[in-house]
Amino acid sequence: MTRKVKVGDIYVGGDAPVSVQTMYDRPLSAIEENFDVRMAKLKSMGCDIIRFSYPDIKEHDQLSYVVKHTPMPVVADIHFDYKNALDCIDCKVAALRINPGNIGDRWKTEEVIRKCKDHDVAVRIGLNSGSLPKNTSGADMATLMSDTALEYISWFENLGFYNTVVSLKASDPDAAYLAYTKFASQSDYPLHLGVTEAGGAVTSCVRSTIILSKLLEKKIGDTLRYSITGAIEDEVIAGTELLKSMGLRKKGARIVACPMCGRKSFNSQEFLAEVQNDILSCNKDICVAIMGCQVNGPGEAKGADIAVAGIGKKVYIYKNGEIYKEVASEEAREQLLKVISEYE
Ligand code: SF4
Repeated sequence: MTRKVKVGDIYVGGDAPVSVQTMYDRPLSAIEENFDVRMAKLKSMGCDIIRFSYPDIKEHDQLSYVVKHTPMPVVADIHFDYKNALDCIDCKVAALRINPGNIGDRWKTEEVIRKCKDHDVAVRIGLNSGSLPKNTSGADMATLMSDTALEYISWFENLGFYNTVVSLKASDPDAAYLAYTKFASQSDYPLHLGVTEAGGAVTSCVRSTIILSKLLEKKIGDTLRYSITGAIEDEVIAGTELLKSMGLRKKGARIVACPMCGRKSFNSQEFLAEVQNDILSCNKDICVAIMGCQVNGPGEAKGADIAVAGIGKKVYIYKNGEIYKEVASEEAREQLLKVISEYE
């Protein structure tokens, strides 16, 4: 079992459940007006930790604001300038992610680690295959990544600091898999899993899921992120669905939706896009089916707690397998969410 690292009000590693992470998709200078609402929803959807890029200490006030208005532990992502790492600790982040290899002289990283120790802030050593020190030993990529992480850990341990999580991401899933297994065979520090630059939702989900599920089956991995060129909400959905499918997270809301075909009399694809995040953030152990026509609609509706099936020009909402309401399609979203919120 890995050691346990405290990240804000949750733990990563040891007997703690595997956590799901994402990374905010805007600069701190352009936070949306309904930031609080979005963060609360991400948490309800299953996001446990969120990272923010912190490239400039001029954004100190914005980072402090973000920490105050985010219900999950906030991680600051630091590259190049150790002063940003020192400053983000004053913004009360729970953790920071650094790659000592791009911070410069060793004393700069050490200064950051001393301050993290004083303020009980966790550190993720974030190594990417694209940003490793020069390979002078001729080692393969996995060995180089693992050995580099172990060396940085030894720097930290010399300072009496142990609150460290490690990530060894590569865009090549096989390289990531080998690096993670290599490291796990040599160290008990917890691992943050991910395949980096994995592409859009479909390619990322395929590439990441193959590797992440193989690692998790071997009990390697304590926290994870799906990197998706797309909505961060999708990263959270992908992470939680993987953990639910592997029995590593309780069920929560489950959506069954038909793929849609030429028989459709209701656009289940558009409808799903409209309601998906609301359903997945409802904090209930329910199954909701969204079906496009009368072929499979009523059948699936019977097996779900709540269902919507478009039949002809009407949309039927089912509750516990029985028709509960008939509504116009333009009212279907609002009515479905109402039925879900009232569902016991
Ligand atoms: S439920 Fe109807 S619309 Fe959806 S895939 Fe099946 S046959 Fe096609």
